[in-house]
Amino acid sequence: MNIYGKTLKMLEDYFKSNSENPAKAKIVFKAIYKEKVSSFFDIKNLSLPVLTKLSNDFTQELPGLIKMSESDEACKYLFRLTDGHTIETVLMKHDYGNGVCVSTQVGCNMNCVFCESGKLKKVRNLEVHEMVGQLLYLTDILHIPVSHVVLMGIGEPFDNYENVTSFIEIITEQLGLAIAARHVTISTSGITPKMLAYAKRQNLNSLAVSLHAPNDELRNQLMPINKKYPITGIIDAAKRYTENCNKKVTFAYIMIKGMNDSPELAHELAALLRGLNCYVNLIPYNKTRSTNYEPSDKEQIAIFFDILKQHGINVTVRRKFGTDMDAACGQLSSDYENSI
Ligand code: SF4
Repeated sequence: MNIYGKTLKMLEDYFKSNSENPAKAKIVFKAIYKEKVSSFFDIKNLSLPVLTKLSNDFTQELPGLIKMSESDEACKYLFRLTDGHTIETVLMKHDYGNGVCVSTQVGCNMNCVFCESGKLKKVRNLEVHEMVGQLLYLTDILHIPVSHVVLMGIGEPFDNYENVTSFIEIITEQLGLAIAARHVTISTSGITPKMLAYAKRQNLNSLAVSLHAPNDELRNQLMPINKKYPITGIIDAAKRYTENCNKKVTFAYIMIKGMNDSPELAHELAALLRGLNCYVNLIPYNKTRSTNYEPSDKEQIAIFFDILKQHGINVTVRRKFGTDMDAACGQLSSDYENSI
């Protein structure tokens, strides 16, 4: 077992089941996440038999770095997991701090037509420690401070719900990585039942929904998952989240030239979101090698933006991360897979 896959509660249960004081879990958490011990035998205030048992039961292995590509704004890391599969993680350098975009699955089954990762197909869910490991590699090995986390790398986080919620518990735990809960964002393609379950938790984490179209006909073309979970249910679930968690929901809208960027669609989007406590984040499409889509022109994005504004929608345009370093979603990993 990998110790980085255990929440504080799980570790307390581990000690209880071994007839030990569960308070020892806090000592272990503090030692591995705060004091960064690389051997269990370096943990202070625990007896030798306890340390021996810990080192027999757990490992502290992190994913191995294969390759990285860097620009002024971002850095993309390709990691190898113990079973040989590869995943990618992206560091985004913001004015307000560093954000890390974490992968949650090997490949992805959602098949969004504009996405490289969808072409990799889901191989398996990531274990909790494999998600925590992506962050720890950056913070502990590369000594990069991280203040924000988005679950927006390869994979659909809500298709790996249990592991993702444990991951968030660990990284937001004060004795763990202590990332502020509001600085953790789950990004979903719109798995409605899991959105509702997430809303029920009344958590402080943020929610982003990849919408990319204001009607089912267009969204079905871009995101096949929409046939299973259509837009009405997504909007209802988003509303539930905003009410239960008292937070805005973010809708991501990738701007694809000639596909979803017309003024008519901007009006339709505004009508769809009217009255919802939300932001819209317009993202110029990041062109990939294996799709024929092009990013919308700047002028077209400006028109779309203005229409949403006129309708009173909170809207921003995200600067592109990674276009100058070939970092479109999933591309580094698929290039690597293709080359071996
Ligand atoms: S955009 Fe996200 S959900 Fe869609 S295929 Fe790519 S990784 Fe999966």
